[in-house]
Amino acid sequence: MSKKRVYTFGNGKAEGKADMKNLLGGKGANLAEMNLIGVPVPPGFTITTEVCTEYNDLGRDKVVELLKPEVEKAIENIEKLTGTKFGDAANPLLVSVRSGARASMPGMMDTILNLGLNDDAVKGIAAKSGNEWFAWDSYRRFVQMFGDVVLGMKPESKEEIDPFEKIMEEVKHTRGVELDTDLTVEDLKDLVNKFKAAVKTQTGRDFPTCAWEQLWGAVMAVFDSWGNPRAVYYRRLNNIPDEWGTAVNVQAMVFGNMGNTSATGVAFTRDAATGEDLFNGEYLINAQGEDVVAGTRTPQEITKEGSLRWAKLQSVSEEERASKFPSLEETMPELYKELRVVEQKLEDHYKDMQDMEFTIQSGKLWILQTRNGKRTGAAMVKIAMDLLRESKIDEKTALLRLEPSKLDELLHPVFDSVAIRAANVLAKGLPASPGAATGQIVFFADEASKYETSLLVRIETSPEDLEGMNIARGILTARGGMTSHAAVVARGMGKCCVSGAGALKIDYKARTLTIEGKVFKEGDWLSLNGSTGEVYEGKVQTRKPDLSGDFGLILELAEKFTKMSVRTNADSPKDAQVAREFGAKGIGLCRTEHMFFEGERIKAMREMILASTTEGRKRALAKLLPYQREDFEGIFEAMAGYGVTVRLLDPPLHEFVPHQLSTQRELAEEMGVTIDVIKAKVDSLEEFNPMLGHRGCRLGNTYPEITEMQARAIIEAALNLKAKGVDARPEIMVPLTGTLKEFKLQADIIRATAEKVFAEKNDRIDYLLGTMIEIPRAALTADLIATEADFFSFGTNDLTQMTFGYSRDDAGTFLPIYIDKGILKHDPFQVLDQEGVGQLVKMGTEKGRSTKPNLKVGICGEHGGEPSSVEFCHTVGMDYVSCSPYRVPIARLAAAQAAVKGNK
Ligand code: PEP
Ligand code: MG
Repeated sequence: MSKKRVYTFGNGKAEGKADMKNLLGGKGANLAEMNLIGVPVPPGFTITTEVCTEYNDLGRDKVVELLKPEVEKAIENIEKLTGTKFGDAANPLLVSVRSGARASMPGMMDTILNLGLNDDAVKGIAAKSGNEWFAWDSYRRFVQMFGDVVLGMKPESKEEIDPFEKIMEEVKHTRGVELDTDLTVEDLKDLVNKFKAAVKTQTGRDFPTCAWEQLWGAVMAVFDSWGNPRAVYYRRLNNIPDEWGTAVNVQAMVFGNMGNTSATGVAFTRDAATGEDLFNGEYLINAQGEDVVAGTRTPQEITKEGSLRWAKLQSVSEEERASKFPSLEETMPELYKELRVVEQKLEDHYKDMQDMEFTIQSGKLWILQTRNGKRTGAAMVKIAMDLLRESKIDEKTALLRLEPSKLDELLHPVFDSVAIRAANVLAKGLPASPGAATGQIVFFADEASKYETSLLVRIETSPEDLEGMNIARGILTARGGMTSHAAVVARGMGKCCVSGAGALKIDYKARTLTIEGKVFKEGDWLSLNGSTGEVYEGKVQTRKPDLSGDFGLILELAEKFTKMSVRTNADSPKDAQVAREFGAKGIGLCRTEHMFFEGERIKAMREMILASTTEGRKRALAKLLPYQREDFEGIFEAMAGYGVTVRLLDPPLHEFVPHQLSTQRELAEEMGVTIDVIKAKVDSLEEFNPMLGHRGCRLGNTYPEITEMQARAIIEAALNLKAKGVDARPEIMVPLTGTLKEFKLQADIIRATAEKVFAEKNDRIDYLLGTMIEIPRAALTADLIATEADFFSFGTNDLTQMTFGYSRDDAGTFLPIYIDKGILKHDPFQVLDQEGVGQLVKMGTEKGRSTKPNLKVGICGEHGGEPSSVEFCHTVGMDYVSCSPYRVPIARLAAAQAAVKGNK
């Protein structure tokens, strides 16, 4: 049998089902599933994601030829179920054509509605519905969508205006009306003619009247939209592979714009911003889907409770609310009840919060889509824990429901409670996505990086604004509801957003924002509270968030299943303390170089570097010793009871010497030498490739006295604390080992120094002695190195640098291009390259443990806090990962998930 490319659904039957997301896309799989569980869904069919790939490989004509027989049959099936005929004048079948990838990419790809209309069919629809206005309104929408999406008339830059919008504005202006709904049938006919004329002028072709020509054009345009810049950017942001492709869903149209017994809306089974178990959503009477999300009309709340809340936030009186903005619960109580039954059924079936689109056509409810709803980090945690408490899911499922990187949102600041009381509230909008944001105003998404912290202020946002929204600290819009583009996207990004702040008057040309007569210019400061919808004047101070409650419970749950422990990279007691509060169990990397920069230390450090004799170096090092010891005491104390891995000096010495003439002169005076002596030494330390030069244990092996001083400071600090009753657990780590001998010489110095200190203090302490594995040669000879080392810590920053041969400092010039071209999937300095660098990590671990079975192994490169890399570390059997303090919760969750997945 030839390959199946089309899957039909309708009337309680479907060829697909929920677990076929890879082939049918999320939307297609769920449309099929909804049919199977008895939810009312308009009939249709799904063209598989594989066809998108075929389209890219084989081109349009070949793909149409391959699809034709199956699509014709599938259309026939819809005709049979709806009693209509595709392309017919009197009784036409109209369809929607929508994208639907495996992972949902809201608003990123294209949609065409009302397809099948032409000058004859519009009359048929008018006669059949008895509603001429509706028929022509649908037709003008179709010509515009088709023109924009299929015929490529959508403007590409922000300066251009959509030709159809322009005509619409002109017609409204001459007719003296404000709302689309105030246009007459004659106006709509006029619009259609003008739209078609614009198509002819701009494309040189007549608007296609043949339904089949329209259909093929639309299907191919949806495939094309997989490659549009905003879809590509969204995939990058969310790690969605380019090769997945999108499916195409063709479905019989149902109309929410057929009059006052019709409506369309979006609903969530729980609150996507807070996670509260509160059914909510928005709808519009006599409208099509895009009106709800476009922000052009103010959508109304579905539940009465939601409507009352909304009115309070917007300072709308009860009288005005009830007359102008009543809830669906009030306007269509029976349908509301039906919708409640469906939402319960869907949430119970999928066991997760659902985001649904529905349409009511002349009093009949249809569900057009359901998917697991996008949510903020806070909502993600609450929903998972609530579902667990409701016994709808088990502990392991609850853990796997969480996206580790989204925990980050919960760690971000909220407004300082004192500062916020003094702040001046300028306006109130909808609390679209929680959090606090302070920044400088920008009015255009592509200018979001103009300031270090910017706030994007727009009348409304569109998918083109995605990149700027990601860069900005917060988003503020004048129009749009809780399901507007800005709100949905911001929640997905975990970005603070206030939408629909009606008091805002934005003038893009003048680049000003006016609120109640007060004018704000680009660059002025504003603050947003995305949890209350308040907009404040100026900069408002923020503070750390509260991490108790469900967040704590999630981490407890993680602890129950995890195999690896999570440490932190910290070189100050303060960072160590923060990490400890997040549950770090020790320090996996304490870089000592930062300790040499403060105040007097840098002077002694420079003296050491510039000294020409061992004696001179020792004198300078003696000055550094007390500083080092004090630093270590602070850190060991902050991490009492847990291991602290202290890495010996690593960077090239050139980084510590003065490069400015004035500082060189000062130093010369202090040391009693001429400035030329200083200059000559500085020049002599310069290297062509410092990262491959005189650094790491190469320093300790050329200047053993440095290693000696650091080892002494570590052991003395630990013994001093022991005397005070503090449980200090030092682990000394040698950087940049490449050969066994290199490590062995350093280890000998460290051991001898420790013994000396023990004898002097007449006391002992246990300590571990290990090495970074960050040079490929060390990974290759790990069995030898393990004979001398108690532990390995993979330095995957350097290991990536040396395995790829990409400079850590210079790769920024070409890495983005490599990612754009698909040469690399990710920046390997952020996401561990499991295929290449990962082999060295695996080999290093196995070889190391082949000589020392109980060898402790961890990672301390940046990858230690990146979820997919943490999972990899689990699979190679590491004991711990170490990452920056704010990534500790993320790593803890990722480690637990890895363990749960491993057991499943
Ligand atoms: C590493 O190379 O991965 C590492 C942790 O060390 P650094 O980043 O300090 O070179
Ligand atoms: Mg390194």
